[in-house]
Amino acid sequence: MADYDIIIIGSGPAGVSAALYSVRAGLNTLIVSAGAGALAKAEKIENFYGTGKPLTGKELHASGEKQAEDLGVRIVREQVVSVEYFGDFNVSTSSSTFTSKALILATGTSRKAPKIKGIAEFEGKGVSYCAVCDAFFYRKKPVAVIGEGEYALKEALELSHVTDNVTILTNGLDPKTDMSKFNVITDKISEICGEENVSGVSFESGDKLEVKGVFIALGVAGSTDMARKIGAVIKDGKISVNENLETSVPGLFAAGDCVGGTLQVYKAVYEGALAAKSAISFVRK
Ligand SMILES: Cc1cc2nc3c(=O)[nH]c(=O)nc-3n(C[C@H](O)[C@H](O)[C@H](O)COP(=O)(O)OP(=O)(O)OC[C@H]3O[C@@H](n4cnc5c(N)ncnc54)[C@H](O)[C@@H]3O)c2cc1C
Repeated sequence: MADYDIIIIGSGPAGVSAALYSVRAGLNTLIVSAGAGALAKAEKIENFYGTGKPLTGKELHASGEKQAEDLGVRIVREQVVSVEYFGDFNVSTSSSTFTSKALILATGTSRKAPKIKGIAEFEGKGVSYCAVCDAFFYRKKPVAVIGEGEYALKEALELSHVTDNVTILTNGLDPKTDMSKFNVITDKISEICGEENVSGVSFESGDKLEVKGVFIALGVAGSTDMARKIGAVIKDGKISVNENLETSVPGLFAAGDCVGGTLQVYKAVYEGALAAKSAISFVRK
């Protein structure tokens, strides 16, 4: 029995708009959010209907969250580090797991592509974006995870089920969480090297680490990372959806910047509402 009818990841315009429709349809609705996304950077919004005066993105975000909470939406303010699909959806933060019948991804365009030499060249040949998907190929082999936060830690823990040789590479950043279970290298990376497949990582310090696999998990898990893990189709770095915002996975919907198109508040709000309507029909069936 799922905890919620609908879980929405993200509390930007798409996520909150979806939540307003879901809760007002009488569905038990949870938002899990790591804070303001693109809106955190927007100094002045003056092209969105009804705001009266220009608002900062942060003001718009706070007012959206309050509106949802006032209507009965629960908001958990934590970063999602993993999503799984077993007919119902499991959404995990570093401290809890929540389950739902339907899931709406409204995570904006948070995915960060690291600019490290060798990453593009070795994608699929030792460079991976998904430990759950690819860990199996690295049984008992040395692997590295590139990242500095909870997402990287989660990927490292996933890999530790198949190999005891996992190193986290923060690429010059300070770890943002306790990574003491793992060997951590904070040096800046100069290159991922190999012939046909990855054979190692070299650092600006001149050191080299021999690994067979490199898993990318920078910053916060992005929408495509999550969608890919549960088998949804990704096209050109965006989640593929149909006109009803349905992905290729039953019960999984996506809306807003994470599906591409015009990256504006009005479009995110519209798609959030439409994704919720589709999710509501799915749950009621
Ligand atoms: C500088 C700037 C100025 C802009 N100015 C305007 C403007 O004037 N007018 C306009 O219409 N648009 C403007 N935009 C665009 C607008 O902000 C976006 O189109 C809109 O915010 C997209 O909404 P969204 O809900 O899809 O994503 P976002 O607003 O990016 O929200 C994404 C949400 O997902 C959450 N999230 C992501 N990953 C996770 C995770 N792993 N776990 C938990 N939560 C997660 C984030 O914390 C956030 O709550 C601007 C954008 C920028 C960057």
